[in-house]
Amino acid sequence: MRAITGAPMTEKVRRAMEAVPRHEFVPDSVKPQAYDNRPLPIGEMQTISQPLIVALMTQLLEPRLGDRILELGTGSGYQAAVLAELVDQVYSVEIIGALADEAAARLKRLGYDNVTVRHGDGTLGWEEVAPFDGIIVTAAGIEIPDALMRQLRLGGRLVMPVGEVGGVQQLKLVENRPEGLINENVLSVRFVPITRDIR
Ligand code: SAH
Repeated sequence: MRAITGAPMTEKVRRAMEAVPRHEFVPDSVKPQAYDNRPLPIGEMQTISQPLIVALMTQLLEPRLGDRILELGTGSGYQAAVLAELVDQVYSVEIIGALADEAAARLKRLGYDNVTVRHGDGTLGWEEVAPFDGIIVTAAGIEIPDALMRQLRLGGRLVMPVGEVGGVQQLKLVENRPEGLINENVLSVRFVPITRDIR
């Protein structure tokens, strides 16, 4: 059993976190730190979030077995793998081609055949496979992209760090309820920025 330092979480999310080998998702140079509760570099100036934040964001989505989830910001593929342990399908979009390719290959090698990675701009969502039961944005933006709100199913939940890029953001939870949208600020966080620059 792998200990993830200091991360309080539900039993279901804890089991998912334990099932995913985090060391497979980080470069050799930081493998000794793979199970520390801290963010780690994954190349291309991007970072994999600390396990506590991955657990929290996963939990906020309230994932269920039949769910279809959209992720903006595949990065290493770690968050996608954690979700893949809990839901039916994960669709993840990454704007940096090298990271998208690496993550897709890694997820395949590790047997996560319910994750589909696409190279592109995740702020546009993924029209062909929408709507989603949950949308998780793992990069920061000044506002929630309209396309993502449109692709969130009624009853669905969206989690995203919203605020000044390069500064502190609020981790926001949006619930698309029949009586209207419910918006909650959960925690102050710091994420790498969303870019529109496909490379
Ligand atoms: N969830 C990742 C960490 C994400 S870091 C993991 O578990 O490893 C944020 C990622 O968002 C970076 O890889 C960055 O390239 C990507 N990103 C930034 N803007 C994006 C956009 N518009 N569409 C898709 N991905 C984007």
